[in-house]
Amino acid sequence: MPNFLINMFNKIFPNFNERKIKDYYSTVFEINCYYKSFTNLSDNELKIKTSDLRSAILQGQTMKSILPEAFALVKEATRRVLGLTLFDVQLIGGIILHEGKIAEMKTGEGKTLVSCLPAFLNSLFGKGVHIITVNEYLAQRDSTLISQIYELLGLSVGLVTADMNIDEKKYNYNCDITYVTNSEVAFDYLKDNMVMDISHIVQRNFFYCIIDEVDSILIDEARTPLIIGGNTQSSVSKYIKASEISKYLLKDKDYEVDYKKQIVTLTDKGLLNIETLLNIIDLYDIYDPWAQYIINSLKAKELYIKDVHYIISNDHIEIIDEFTGRIAHGKRWSEGLHQAIEAKENLSIKQGMKTLSSITYQNFFLLYPKLSGMTGTAKTEEYEFEKLYKLPIVQVPTNKKMQRIDFPDIVYRTSYYKWKAVANECYDMYLIGRPVLVGTTNIESSELLSRLLSDYNLPHNLLNAKPENIKRESEIIAQAGRKKAITIATNMAGRGTDIILGGNINVVVKCKILDLLFNNQFINLNSNKMLVELLNINDLNSPLMITRLDNQLYDLLKRSEYWFKKLSERIHNKREIQKFIIFIIENKHKYNYSNNPLILLYQLLYNNYTLILEEEKEEVIKLGGLHVIGTERHDSRRIDNQLRGRSGRQGDPGSSRFFLSLEDKLLKNFGADKIANLMNNLHIEDSVPLESVLLTSVLENVQQKVESYYYDIRKSIFDYDQVLNSHRYGLYSERKKILNNYYLKDIILQYSQNSVDQMASLYYSSYKQQNKKLAKSVLINLNELLGLKENIELQDLNSLTLNHIKFLFRQQMIISYDLKEAYWEEIAPGTIRQLEKYYLLSQIDQAWARHLEAMVQLQDAISWRSYAQQDPLIEYKTESFNIFYNLYQYISQSVVYMIMRTSKVI
Ligand code: ADP
Ligand code: MG
Repeated sequence: MPNFLINMFNKIFPNFNERKIKDYYSTVFEINCYYKSFTNLSDNELKIKTSDLRSAILQGQTMKSILPEAFALVKEATRRVLGLTLFDVQLIGGIILHEGKIAEMKTGEGKTLVSCLPAFLNSLFGKGVHIITVNEYLAQRDSTLISQIYELLGLSVGLVTADMNIDEKKYNYNCDITYVTNSEVAFDYLKDNMVMDISHIVQRNFFYCIIDEVDSILIDEARTPLIIGGNTQSSVSKYIKASEISKYLLKDKDYEVDYKKQIVTLTDKGLLNIETLLNIIDLYDIYDPWAQYIINSLKAKELYIKDVHYIISNDHIEIIDEFTGRIAHGKRWSEGLHQAIEAKENLSIKQGMKTLSSITYQNFFLLYPKLSGMTGTAKTEEYEFEKLYKLPIVQVPTNKKMQRIDFPDIVYRTSYYKWKAVANECYDMYLIGRPVLVGTTNIESSELLSRLLSDYNLPHNLLNAKPENIKRESEIIAQAGRKKAITIATNMAGRGTDIILGGNINVVVKCKILDLLFNNQFINLNSNKMLVELLNINDLNSPLMITRLDNQLYDLLKRSEYWFKKLSERIHNKREIQKFIIFIIENKHKYNYSNNPLILLYQLLYNNYTLILEEEKEEVIKLGGLHVIGTERHDSRRIDNQLRGRSGRQGDPGSSRFFLSLEDKLLKNFGADKIANLMNNLHIEDSVPLESVLLTSVLENVQQKVESYYYDIRKSIFDYDQVLNSHRYGLYSERKKILNNYYLKDIILQYSQNSVDQMASLYYSSYKQQNKKLAKSVLINLNELLGLKENIELQDLNSLTLNHIKFLFRQQMIISYDLKEAYWEEIAPGTIRQLEKYYLLSQIDQAWARHLEAMVQLQDAISWRSYAQQDPLIEYKTESFNIFYNLYQYISQSVVYMIMRTSKVI
């Protein structure tokens, strides 16, 4: 159903979702009955229950029938290990995930634990369950948490990270449940399909997958495919030649320039001119592409101006950022444009990357027979999830009633007054002590606001989405709910970590300890000062303080310091030490409390901070909770909802407000004039904002338009990738077959037959057309290839039909191959089998890389040629069929050629 129909449907039947939820309650009731009956079982008996369920499945019981018991086991294990009781809405979320759907549950509703339920149930099959997170920090955090529950139930939890070797990865993928990031799991899939030895494959066949923050992975990241690249060798000369030629070409005669859209198109005359100058037949030949080089050179000539778009420094092209006017160090324009500009400026040309293999997330995740996902914000993209992924969405009600107030947007005429208003709002909140989270759409504006707040002398944390900061990010976000905290974050930063009012105790204590150890605050501190620092208490005379000043803590600090020094002697790498300490803290339940001073220190600080944070929480709640400020409407409502959703978790109070200006990108592009007119008519001054509910709904309409624009782009990428995907599937299965086989002679012979058949056909047709020269050269090639003792000559074939010739060629080929094999067996027994495998696999990989490039060229060529009245996608499908056919021809020829030649050399 298109979005507007779904919207209409939801308006007419507002209770449809509710009814779906109601249906789940009978199962919830069953789960809770089992759960109650498990209270008195021993830990060991719980484990036995798990293996009972496993055997039930082996004996053919359906998952549906054992779901209540399995979920109840997880609920009981969670209670025992974490001391948390799963809410009914969490159980419902689990059922939805098990059904292969998307569970929309708000931030802070406890989705990590929700995924644990279906993961457990599905892992009973023994085929592995993948839980996908957006970054490694979350994968690590969640797997540590969940592994405690699973250990109790007797299941294994794996974690795959980028720095692991093959054996470690394999071990972790073989666990019952595996935590891994979206990029790592897809890269491993690509790499598994490039291995030369079967023992290097790390993944099992896919079975069931739960994607956390599913909208971020399947929607936001859907536009950039994953690529494994290698260095390219070719084409430097092409850039230079293209640059030369572009100098001779004339604007409006050979080519036309559209400055607004930033595109260059060739005229028919220009096309002919270029082909003559280059002495080629087809500028768009996908195996010898020139068009892209020429177009890029013309773009470099017409659209990219030195000292406006780039500067030259140290013989390098450096891009000038169009928004900030700053140099974007190290950034390069893509798809050959950068090289074209280097050629124009007579600089040395830096090699680009060649794609060895690639896949889009869209098609990657569709490889799972069963897929499911969870997020706080999916509903706005319902159509896309249903259409492309066949993933229906069910909205799960919150556990406690949502208390957040979303105020209507405020619009200023200029961005100057907008930012001033944002800073003022931060100031007002700071004065009363309410924590504030400000979301910005880009790094520049977050820095701008940060400077403004510094002018106001307001302490604040600034976050951006650089990958190396993700861990720290989560820590800052975890403290964003403390009193007086002001946090500026680009919209996506710190996803997956919820903001707890008063602060997240675990993170606060962990940070404090790391801070203490690494900044050497122990040394030369008198105990009072140190404790003030440590306990974060400003008032030395507070009654709380007196109870906390005890010698025990001081001694403990000394011991920890000693322990840390010893540790530093053993491990020199600061990062490693930090990792180790975090590991101990996070796995503290496994350690003996009385031994390790670090754990004792943790415990002590934990107790102290619990008091402080609890007090703080009460205070913050009284003040109204977290206030979220949006500084620009994003292109998609979903991202705005994510930002708002940071506040009001688990029934907390909270509020949100967006501050906008007519100079914002979204407003500038759509409908700012109407609002400006309105402001003029009302004689509103620049410093006075417009605030209305009506305006908010106008903006939502604009956003819906932009959303559907981006949907179309993603849909088109998906459609084009579908074509390539079927090729990928075919090739990967063939490759797997080869990899799994020891005896490949039959495949080689089959490929060879294919090759010599082609030669026979070519020979026959040229002979019939009296083209003796061509016929002869075919025979020379054949003789050369087969290395025959007695060459096949023209006169031998005179009177034969095509079928006879094919038969003869095949025979000769088999004889030649047998001879090579015998020869090899004598000097190095068994080698021929290895050679066969090696050549088959490496030629497939090379051919695939060549194919990928050809497909990109084809897509470009089709878009450049612009077919009148024709759907380019259909054109693409038709032509890609030929390219795919070529791929197989190419593989079979090159394999035979390689293997025959190698034998000859030895
Ligand atoms: P989400 O991913 O939905 O934003 P998380 O899984 O990160 O939420 O959980 C948020 C917080 O809620 C965590 O600190 C978690 O321990 C806590 N939590 C989850 N489930 C429960 C529960 N049933 N009772 C109490 N706290 C819970
Ligand atoms: Mg989460």
